[in-house]
Amino acid sequence: MTRPMLNIQPGIMDIAPYIGGESRAKSDQRVIKLSSNEGALGPSPKAMEAVRQMAGEIHRYPDGDCRELREALATRENIPAEQIICGSGSDEIISLLCQSYAGPGDEIIYTDHGFLMYPISAKANGAVPVSVPETDLKADVDEILKGVTDKTKIVFLANPNNPTGSYISKDKVRRLRKDLPEDILLVIDSAYCEFVEEQDYSAGHELIERYGNVVVTRTFSKIYAMGGLRLGWGHCPPDIIDVLNRVRGPFNVNSVAQAAGIAALEDEEFLARSRAHTSEWRQRTASQLTAMGLTVYPSVANFILVEFGSPERAEACRQFLKNRGILVRQMGAYNLGSCLRISIGLGEEMELACAAVKEYLKQA
Ligand code: PMP
Repeated sequence: MTRPMLNIQPGIMDIAPYIGGESRAKSDQRVIKLSSNEGALGPSPKAMEAVRQMAGEIHRYPDGDCRELREALATRENIPAEQIICGSGSDEIISLLCQSYAGPGDEIIYTDHGFLMYPISAKANGAVPVSVPETDLKADVDEILKGVTDKTKIVFLANPNNPTGSYISKDKVRRLRKDLPEDILLVIDSAYCEFVEEQDYSAGHELIERYGNVVVTRTFSKIYAMGGLRLGWGHCPPDIIDVLNRVRGPFNVNSVAQAAGIAALEDEEFLARSRAHTSEWRQRTASQLTAMGLTVYPSVANFILVEFGSPERAEACRQFLKNRGILVRQMGAYNLGSCLRISIGLGEEMELACAAVKEYLKQA
């Protein structure tokens, strides 16, 4: 059969496909998965029960409007339900925003070590991703503003950022919005906001009342540990909600995810436990690794970024851990090849990971 020459849309073949965290070591080995920032404690028991309850209902189409889930989110976050859109992960919201607001010839801005789905979604829509420098592995408002051209349509700011774990204060985010031209959409990706304890931080929802050109994205994949169900949401001004509702699939969030999301929101105890666990073990892991002479960058999220001095050393350590069933994430795709990103897991898992790193350093 001869292959017809099909026309692929501009940008798509420039995409380096996103590679998720590894989940397998040797076939029969117990795996400690610290490679995808998934939430140490597993999902909320209430969310798991909701999933079981939904099993007999999966022949029904989901509520295409996610009404009950949006209302539960609205109550919890004290924002209007009409300003919420749900998606199959916050990845889908990011993609819908690019599809709706950035096309061929347009530019989107993200920071040097910003989350990779921003350039991927931009390219998928023919837009050009422009990466701007960070300062000390943190987003730098002035550098973002310097990156603006008359082609810029969207600025993506992950706050806190993955994989650096850093954040910028709510005052800086507000200044960014004020100093950006009005016709540029600011997307604040607050996937990890629930882990942040710092007083000068905000997930950014307050900006939406004030400005018509800000979107905040959130997810159930991190603190709620429901990545497998794919559930995220966006808080947007009404006209942006209207645009995204035209573009999204009619049933973009499945019924099991909706039910589990509602149940998870009711589980305050789980949320508090998850937050406290992450904070404790982030600190304990960072101090153990620092005591071994490694540099651990300050993180406010559920992972830490660890510097090994060279890509070769980082990769050798990753392989050493992998041989012991401990999976962590390589950082070459983020221009941080000399680092490894380690998600915060259970206490015992973190102890084993630290012991393995120590063993690696001893023989390296
Ligand atoms: N934003 C950031 C900063 C992330 O790290 C991730 C997940 N790795 C996402 C968005 C997407 O998460 P999800 O699609 O699971 O909601």
